[in-house]
Amino acid sequence: MKTSSLPPSPRGHAFWLFGLSGAGKTTLADLLVAALRRDGTPVLALDGDTLRAGLCAGLGFAEAGRTENLRRAAEVARLAVDSGLVVVASFITPLEAHRRLITGIIGAEALSLIFLQAPLDLCQHRDVKGLYRQARNGQVGQMTGLTSPFEAPTRADLVLDTANRTPEHCLAELLACVRDRTGR
Ligand code: ADP
Repeated sequence: MKTSSLPPSPRGHAFWLFGLSGAGKTTLADLLVAALRRDGTPVLALDGDTLRAGLCAGLGFAEAGRTENLRRAAEVARLAVDSGLVVVASFITPLEAHRRLITGIIGAEALSLIFLQAPLDLCQHRDVKGLYRQARNGQVGQMTGLTSPFEAPTRADLVLDTANRTPEHCLAELLACVRDRTGR
């Protein structure tokens, strides 16, 4: 087998934002991606809705489908990290086993797990996508926090209190974490 003779690229880093639906993943990922791009940092943004529309189309929301969705997302993130990109990933990532799985694929040294902490009541009140209401009406099954579990993390590299802090405050904390982990 012919092996690649390409010179190695500098390693990137994956920032993996996780938490309940409505916790603020999309909001903060968008702010972070915009800030990094303004500074000229090459970024790959990955999120559940985009992946489920293509690479992960057809996977369900039962545990096996969620695990496979996250496994594929982590494999893509790893390829991007190996190519020197900063990855901003936003996925609910509900179980500790999922967090271990992605850590195993990407590698702990190239991954920062960022927990977006907001109580279920507040997320239901925000209900940005109307999913909680639909789940309460029986129109959506396996809704994380209601009919599907979300395990509080036992560890995270950063916890953002999105219930009590503004998005701008959380972005500043995220950018400090990026500087810390990547020097950018
Ligand atoms: P998710 O992607 O996790 O489902 P969204 O980003 O779509 O969540 O929605 C989060 C909602 O909470 C938005 O309406 C956002 O404006 C609001 N919000 C209030 N404070 C924060 C914060 N500190 N960080 C992120 N979102 C916040």
